[in-house]
Amino acid sequence: MSRASKQELRRRLADRGREIAELTGELIRARSENPPGDERAAVAAARAAVQRIEGVECRVVAPEPGRESLIAAAGPRGARTLLLGAHLDTVPAGDGWARDPFGGAIEHGAVHGRGASDIKGGAAAMIAALAALAEAGVTASRRVVLVANADEEAGGRLGMDHVRDVLDEPVDAAIVAEPSGVAEPFERLYVAARGAARFSLHAAGTSGHTSLVREPGVVNAIDVLTDAIARLRERTPVLREPPHPIHGAADLIVVGVEGGRGWGVVPAGARADVEIRVVPGTSRPALEAQVAEALDGSGVRVEHAPGTLRWVEPSAVDADAPIVRAAARAWTDVLGAAPTLGCFPGGTDGRSLTERGIPTIPGLGPGTLLRAHGPDEHVAVAELVTAAQIYALAAHAFLLDDVTTQGEPYVRHRA
Ligand SMILES: [Zn+2]
Repeated sequence: MSRASKQELRRRLADRGREIAELTGELIRARSENPPGDERAAVAAARAAVQRIEGVECRVVAPEPGRESLIAAAGPRGARTLLLGAHLDTVPAGDGWARDPFGGAIEHGAVHGRGASDIKGGAAAMIAALAALAEAGVTASRRVVLVANADEEAGGRLGMDHVRDVLDEPVDAAIVAEPSGVAEPFERLYVAARGAARFSLHAAGTSGHTSLVREPGVVNAIDVLTDAIARLRERTPVLREPPHPIHGAADLIVVGVEGGRGWGVVPAGARADVEIRVVPGTSRPALEAQVAEALDGSGVRVEHAPGTLRWVEPSAVDADAPIVRAAARAWTDVLGAAPTLGCFPGGTDGRSLTERGIPTIPGLGPGTLLRAHGPDEHVAVAELVTAAQIYALAAHAFLLDDVTTQGEPYVRHRA
């Protein structure tokens, strides 16, 4: 397709800000807090929107009652295929909102409510992009699969993991919607997402009178625990590596502590809950071995977090992959400057698709991470339009152009 048709895609979407904003508001009103996790209303709203697009087939899948995901597709099966994925679940609304978190009001050029930024606005922008691609004829010869899924906020087992397991067709690449910036929209083109290890440290001491703390054999469990955390910071190799130019560095975060019984009593037990956020290239066995070695002789016992909380696999896509080049060109066309590559600070559903060998951009979309998960979440209508244009142009470039022949359409890292 010609350059003119890319202009046509951009123009079509530029006129649709109101429509994308209204769909974002509808999705916000379709509450889908996770926990507890129930995406039925949001899937119904997304499904109604995609069914208005000519030539789109769709189905709803659910591994458990209430945990629905939508799979919609346009274009011939077997043709070059791009998957666009956005989760429809949100974290709970919490307190402190100036507006109704489930009102979806459009005011002052922004849509307001839980999920606006993470990432119902991105889902609405992807649906608009799919409509524009279908209208412009891109899906006459190429295929776009749109996934609006459950359960990202709880790790993805009942959402994208289920979708990828029931998806009975090959996918050449994927873009997962997540905010493209921490503090500002469209800060970075994320080509990686960090993973996480989670575990608790248990320290034992000897209960007794605090006045006798110098007596032989008296052990303060909180002192043991504090020393163990300091050892972890100093001796865990992944925490001492210099930052990778694109992926950045690992972090250790103590997320909870418990211990002690009050004045006058030497603590007999103490516990700390610890997360280590890891960059791509770190495996679970390697990280857990590093933690065990760093703590060897510290006197604490390590208890790994249960189930899927124990480990979130980091994910990455090759910067030279056609989907990255296509997205970077689209970003440059829409925003006027080449993106800088970066690493998404948390986990995303990109992990699920990457595990299947699908080259996946783990987070590209409107909103910011600082707006997500707190009160007064919102997304600017202009960001929604920008995101929809980037999705559509990236799809156009990936599906129709040879994007491998030119120089790097991005900045690998800022000096
Ligand atoms: Zn998200």
